[in-house]
Amino acid sequence: MDAAEFRKRGKEMVNYVADYLEKIEKRQVFPDVEPGYLRPLIADCAPQDPESFEDVFKDIEKIIMPGVTHWHSPYFFAYFPAASSFPALLADMLCGGIGCVGFSWAASPACTELETVMLDWLGKMVNLPEEFLAGKDGQGGGVIQGSASEATLIALLAARTKIIRQVQSEKPELTETEIMGRLVAYASDQAHSSVERAALIGAVKIKNVPSDDTFSVCGSALKKVLDEDKALVSCKIIGLFNQLFNLFPSIIFLGNKENIWMHIDAAYAGSAFICPEFRHLLNGVEFADSFNFNPHKWLLVNFDCSAMWVKKRSDLTGHWQIPLGRRFRSLKLWFVLRMYGVKGLQEHIRKVTGNFLVWYSLVGWQGKVSWLPGCSP
Ligand SMILES: *Cc1c(COP(=O)(O)O)cnc(C)c1O
Repeated sequence: MDAAEFRKRGKEMVNYVADYLEKIEKRQVFPDVEPGYLRPLIADCAPQDPESFEDVFKDIEKIIMPGVTHWHSPYFFAYFPAASSFPALLADMLCGGIGCVGFSWAASPACTELETVMLDWLGKMVNLPEEFLAGKDGQGGGVIQGSASEATLIALLAARTKIIRQVQSEKPELTETEIMGRLVAYASDQAHSSVERAALIGAVKIKNVPSDDTFSVCGSALKKVLDEDKALVSCKIIGLFNQLFNLFPSIIFLGNKENIWMHIDAAYAGSAFICPEFRHLLNGVEFADSFNFNPHKWLLVNFDCSAMWVKKRSDLTGHWQIPLGRRFRSLKLWFVLRMYGVKGLQEHIRKVTGNFLVWYSLVGWQGKVSWLPGCSP
């Protein structure tokens, strides 16, 4: 494909996507297909000879769309509202066009620098304490991860390294392996499954702290678990992972006092904090070491974009993320934040919150693909 054909096909593809989204409510939200539907529809191996764009294009409706769950349908109420918007799609196109792999500043200075500034913008939008921002000479800063799961894992690894170093300086007789064996991470029993998985990958034992009947963990519940463990192990090595909406400053004070790395995973709820009326739910974040939320869930930036901040960049420097390569993901934040403005995004959050409450009162939470009774096309 040369540039002339790319121009032509690019326009066709933009039209196709615009048509798809404009008329998405006419499609059935969840496909009728059975598992394994696709394999019989395509060849056993890749073609030896090149095929035309037309050949590939016509298979989109024939092979792909019949098996697509339409996340952007107005009748889709499963999982979470995967945010997307035209500005984000256009930015992603530019990201693909530039096609840089920004693993270091020199690998593409704009890629690193725009991300740093966008995370400051976003941090200010949710009113994060100054310490989390990079500014011109701050010690904190943000990074875009592909997912909240990665953010939690990165936080756990950073906490692990920091605490191992600290213990080694106090008790040089302990080997790294011995210290590793004594680490414990604590999470609310309401925490997302990715938190347990981070501990599994990071080889750190994890314990649940029981929540109460409001699904909150209170400081006394955490203290009880910590006290039990002190009897068992002699190290004060703890990472605390809490899920937002269950956050009580008492826990954070305790974490702070006990020298606990505190990570807040607000993957879903976080976007709402751009609205002043919801921001109080984040009170206490000033005591955390790291914080993340997913603009790709609720802030009109398409997947993947999980924003993560730390108070001390030096805890991460050199290990900002799991992969070496990184896409120019900050472009989609830049486009969306500028073209909606904070006010536009606040309106969006308020609208979705309103819709969700209406839906919730009608059908309740089913935790699976569902749509409003009578509205299924
Ligand atoms: C959705 C969600 C996650 C997982 O998000 P990914 O970005 O898909 O890894 C983690 N934690 C919470 C609280 C979530 O809502």
